[in-house]
Amino acid sequence: MSKVLEQFLNENLDYLKDNGLYNEINVVEGPNGPKIKIDGKELINLSSNNYLGLATHDRLKKAAKETIDSHGVGAGAVRTINGTLDVHRELEKKIAEFKGTEAAIAFQSGFNCNMGAISAVMNKDDAILSDELNHASIIDGCRLSKAKIIRVKHSDMEDLRAKAKEATESGLYKKIMYITDGVFSMDGDVALLPEIAEIAEEFNLITYVDDAHGSGVMGKGAGTVKHFGLQDKIDFQMGTLSKAIGVVGGYVAGTQELIDWLKVAGRPFLFSTSLTPGDSAAIIEAIDILMESTELHDKLWENGDYLKKGLKELGFDIGHSETPITPCIIGDEKTTQQFSKRLMEEGVYAKSIVFPTVPKGTGRVRNMPTAAHTKEMLDDALKIYEKVGKELNIIK
Ligand code: PMP
Repeated sequence: MSKVLEQFLNENLDYLKDNGLYNEINVVEGPNGPKIKIDGKELINLSSNNYLGLATHDRLKKAAKETIDSHGVGAGAVRTINGTLDVHRELEKKIAEFKGTEAAIAFQSGFNCNMGAISAVMNKDDAILSDELNHASIIDGCRLSKAKIIRVKHSDMEDLRAKAKEATESGLYKKIMYITDGVFSMDGDVALLPEIAEIAEEFNLITYVDDAHGSGVMGKGAGTVKHFGLQDKIDFQMGTLSKAIGVVGGYVAGTQELIDWLKVAGRPFLFSTSLTPGDSAAIIEAIDILMESTELHDKLWENGDYLKKGLKELGFDIGHSETPITPCIIGDEKTTQQFSKRLMEEGVYAKSIVFPTVPKGTGRVRNMPTAAHTKEMLDDALKIYEKVGKELNIIK
C-alpha cells in the first residue's frame, strides 16, 4: 500500500476509535423485522426505517417473485438506452397518483435521486438555501450543482426570510431554491411547510422537500406535503422507496415538465442502470397497500406514541419529535455508545448516533418503532431501557 495512504488511514481510523466515533457495523442474520438476529442472538429491533413493516410483507414478496419470473432479475441497461421496462412506467404512474402530482421519476436510491435532481436544475449561476440539518445526500447534491450554498438555521423562518431577501436583492443569482427535509431524521421534527410555501411565493423560490422519513408516515401515508395540502406549492416532492415503502429507490414527484426535464438531465437516471423489475413491482404493491388502507400507518403512530410516553415517563430526554422517530438524547459520545452497547447485550438493538451524523455533544440512541412491533415487544424494550438507563446514571 502507498505509504501516504497508509498514514492517512491509520491516523483517521485511530482518531475515530480513540474518540468513540467509530461505527461498528453489525450483520443482521435473516430478515429485517421487528425482531432481528445478530451473532445468533434475537434482539428487539428499534433501528430500522422499515416504518410500516413492508420490507418483509407477504404481498411485496409475492409481487417481486412473480415479476422476477416474468421479467428477470435485472433491467439490463440505463433507462434511456433500453432499461425502461413497462414495470418502471407503471411504478412512476403509481408514485404520481400516490403523491397527487402530474408525474414522477424513479431513481435507484434516495441518495442518488438527490444528487441527480438538485444538480439537474441548479447550477453555478444559482443559490440554494438549505436547512442546516438537511441530510447528507442533499448536501452532496447541492455541492454537485456548483450553486452557492447558503445554510439556513434549522426551521428558523426569520432566518429563511432574511436570507431569501438578501439573496434576491443581491441580484447575483438567476434561480434560488429552498431545500429541506420534510421530517428530520435525527430529531423527528417536521418542516414548517406552510410558512416555507409563503416565503417561497414572496421571493419566487423553487421549493424542494426531501420526504424520505415522511412518506408512509405523514399525511395518512402520502407524505408531509400532502399532510399540509401543499401539493400545488412544493415544486419537488422527493422521497425514498427504501424506508416506509420497504424496498429500495428514490423518486421525485412534480409537474410533467419537471419530470420531463429530470429524465433528460438527471445524471443517475441517464448513466446508472435502473431499478430491478422485482423491486419495482414490490414498490407498486407497497403503494397499493398504503392507498387501500391506513391500518399500518395508524399502527405505526400508535406504537410511536406508546414508546415515547414510556421513555419519557422513565425520565429520558426524547427531544421534541413530532413523529414516531424517538431519540434518547444522551450527549456525550462515549456514554451514548456504551448505552447502545449495553442495550444490545440486554436484548434491544437501538443504534447510537454520534458526530458527524449529529452535532458534537448531542449523541443519541435513536429508536424507530414500526407498525410491526407488538405492545409486548415495546414493553420488553422499555424494561431494558429502564435497567440500562439506571445502570449508566442516565436516568434516576
Ligand atoms: N434523504 C434522507 C432525508 C434520508 O434520511 C435518506 C436515507 N438515509 C436519504 C435521503 C437517502 O435515501 P436512500 O437510503 O434511499 O438512498
